[in-house]
Amino acid sequence: MDQASINALRALDVTPRGHFINGAFCAGETGAQHQVLSPIDGLPLAQIAEGSPADVDTAVRAARVAFEDGRWSRMAPAARKKVLLKLGDLIEAHALEIAVLGVRDNGTEINMAYKAEALSAVATFRYYAEAIDKVYGQIAPTSQDVLGLVHHAPVGVVGAIVPWNFPLMIGSWKIAPALAAGNSVVLKPAESASLSLLKIAELAAEAGVPDGVFNVVTGRGAVVGEALALSMDVDIMVFTGSGATGRRLLENSARSNLKRCYLELGGKSPNIIFADAPDLAEAAKISAAGIFRNSGQVCVAGSRLLVQQEIFEDFVAEITLHADGFRVGDPLDLKSQIGAVHSLPELEANLDFVTQAEAEGAERRTGGTRILTETGGYYMAPTVMTGVKQSDNLFQNEVFGPVLAVTPFKNEDEAIRLANATEYGLAAGVWTANLSRAHRMVAGIRAGVVHVNTYGGADLTVPLGGVGQSGNGHDKSLHALDKYFDLKTAWIKI
Ligand code: ADP
Repeated sequence: MDQASINALRALDVTPRGHFINGAFCAGETGAQHQVLSPIDGLPLAQIAEGSPADVDTAVRAARVAFEDGRWSRMAPAARKKVLLKLGDLIEAHALEIAVLGVRDNGTEINMAYKAEALSAVATFRYYAEAIDKVYGQIAPTSQDVLGLVHHAPVGVVGAIVPWNFPLMIGSWKIAPALAAGNSVVLKPAESASLSLLKIAELAAEAGVPDGVFNVVTGRGAVVGEALALSMDVDIMVFTGSGATGRRLLENSARSNLKRCYLELGGKSPNIIFADAPDLAEAAKISAAGIFRNSGQVCVAGSRLLVQQEIFEDFVAEITLHADGFRVGDPLDLKSQIGAVHSLPELEANLDFVTQAEAEGAERRTGGTRILTETGGYYMAPTVMTGVKQSDNLFQNEVFGPVLAVTPFKNEDEAIRLANATEYGLAAGVWTANLSRAHRMVAGIRAGVVHVNTYGGADLTVPLGGVGQSGNGHDKSLHALDKYFDLKTAWIKI
């Protein structure tokens, strides 16, 4: 990855060719489009097809026909593996192009997007391709006159809805295991970040994923997303996004066919610094990256910093220095460490959080402002707020921006109590040199993942999912495959 190649791709025409349904791009029922703005400069970037309920129907029907006739669902797992490995190779061959495409509509810094989006998609398709011909059914321990077989049957049509942050990484976490298991998929990307996933649809066809097996319908959540969730012919729904939309999916499931919904709904993750952390300088550096990279638009971001009282002022000073030291700017500039906030409404909401926190008595140590306004793009200075109380909005609610809420604690018990004092339970961090304390914290914190003496960076080998109002179900690891299979029993009299 070098700047000249990135600059060449920066100018590439990105006008997509509509939805991808039944193996081909199409304009959709109405031909309507909506304008996507680039967060880099606020200028028009592309026209995206505005899907309708009829387009969702067409895609779901194509997915169902493909599933029922077995062109993919009854293919030998080893044959599906070959196709998905080829898809991994094709994504790898186009990795920089895909990463730049994604950055142009979502604003993540290219340093991060190249690895976390493009290369992570490559790894994810390879992982589930390699896994799928190692999944065995079971023979039940029955009496001798009967044979009980437990099969893993693909569920059918999977509806997937993904957000604008890391669309390709999160999309692949769902598409790859769903396809590997033999299902058909209808995917709805976020209305403002569809480009990289449309490219994956094109490459999937090139790799040999049969027509109808992988479909992408672009457009609004309130139209395309609703129609998908209300479909009588979508068997399961996999989702990453906001709690409000997660609730709506469950409602729409209840209104339609009771499809199972797996929801990843973000968090307000505590990152806890004990005075006995092995390396406080390292803790400050990693913790700053853990909230500020990608402008804080990371579901597992360590957005609540809990710092033990005796090191509070020193640690806050150190992390504030890191916040001020980040180079924020054009996400396609390799020198930028932090790119753009995704959209103007997101940026305004971030600033509102800061204003409200100040009104509630918090102190702004740095940031809290829009910067680089002259670019036309949406950039925000990394922000550190101290004096944030448990009852404050900033303590309780997800900003999804570069805003760190800092709160002191006295001892382990108080740290656990504060860590668990929100509705969320996605991620957490604990910094301590005391092994027993680390284990007690892992046991005591309500979260899907607890990092110890680091923050973030978990790979595909481990599951990611939330508890509480952070959702249910898991992406990544072999566990993610479970939801894409139904268990089917054969009870055979001998
Ligand atoms: P975020 O705050 O990350 O934008 P959203 O939940 O609004 O979270 O969006 C995540 C995804 O959910 C996007 O693809 C969006 O279009 C979709 N979405 C939004 N509203 C609905 C809805 N009512 N039904 C289904 N999907 C929706």
